[in-house]
Amino acid sequence: VKKRILLLAGGQSGEHEVSLSSARSVLGALPQDRFSVTPVVISKQGRWLPASASQQALESGAAEEGGELMLHEAARAEGYDVVFPLLHGPMGEDGTVQGLLTLAGIPFVGSGVLGSAVCMDKIMAKAVLASCGVPQVAYQLATRPEWREEPQRVIERATALGFPLFVKPANLGSSVGISKVRAAGDLSSALDLAFSLDRRVILEAMTRGKPRELEVGVLGNDTPLASPVGELRFDAEFYDYHTKYTEGEASMHIPADVPREVAARVRELAITAFQALDCAGLARVDFFYVEESGELYLNEVNTMPGFTTTSMYPKLWEAAGWSYADLVTRLVELATEER
Ligand code: ATP
Ligand code: MG
Ligand code: MG
Ligand code: MG
Repeated sequence: VKKRILLLAGGQSGEHEVSLSSARSVLGALPQDRFSVTPVVISKQGRWLPASASQQALESGAAEEGGELMLHEAARAEGYDVVFPLLHGPMGEDGTVQGLLTLAGIPFVGSGVLGSAVCMDKIMAKAVLASCGVPQVAYQLATRPEWREEPQRVIERATALGFPLFVKPANLGSSVGISKVRAAGDLSSALDLAFSLDRRVILEAMTRGKPRELEVGVLGNDTPLASPVGELRFDAEFYDYHTKYTEGEASMHIPADVPREVAARVRELAITAFQALDCAGLARVDFFYVEESGELYLNEVNTMPGFTTTSMYPKLWEAAGWSYADLVTRLVELATEER
């Protein structure tokens, strides 16, 4: 029998458009004899669009407004076997939608409330990972009230990390709002930008020199598997939004050309992180590898990674022999697995 999937896409975060292009891929690639997929697009204002408007939004690539607070027929357990919340960033990847679906009693793809929320907040995730010995760069937290009332303290903590450093909104993705700060004079504007997007900001020491960027896919629930390791290469100073989403700016290399023991360590750390953070279903775990010194740092865990047919996560599993349709089938199975 066909699995009835509700595909949620779009959403309120800065990654709205990215989510819609992942959703177009899922719709285009899934075999219609095995799945009946209903897309529901969430507008940038957080309203759920009915079928015709969702279809339009998928074609145009964005939904600014319109829709209802929540589509009654969409959030009902009877209508669907599984929900695939293909949403990135706040109000989608952060446990909010997962909480709604948990309350509604509908199985869904990916991590639950706890894993989603902790992974979305880079500070919380770092604290959990530090407690189990996962190597990470040095970092500091700053909050919006602190930036408003005692900016000098924030500047001092940042400066102590050394330059260049990275300033990031704690709960975002696609490099939105991230700055690489080369000198003290540029700190203030980087902090203003990050705080315009989030109440919580992470200040992060840069790796010594530009790191190689390795990514690995994790798939499963209680006994997850790690994919082959992939590498992203690009000329830009860091993997910013433009480099991520402009054709030809970055290239993917699978498997990554790294020593066997580095790849093994990456896969092992990815599984450790996935379990420590209470992830489920899928995650893409990103690492920095400093070739000269052999240092390896876990950068972050994405609980709903980019999912177009050419995105890293599906490509990593393709290298392990899983077609895009097999992968989605497996994710749907995992969503309903007894745990
Ligand atoms: P994603 O789209 O993967 O969710 P994101 O918005 O959560 O990304 P990060 O992965 O934290 O952002 O950072 C984006 C990029 O910035 C990294 O891929 C890397 O190129 C660069 N970067 C971030 N932090 C550091 C660091 N501490 N040292 C060196 N480079 C860094
Ligand atoms: Mg991220
Ligand atoms: Mg992300
Ligand atoms: Mg990243």
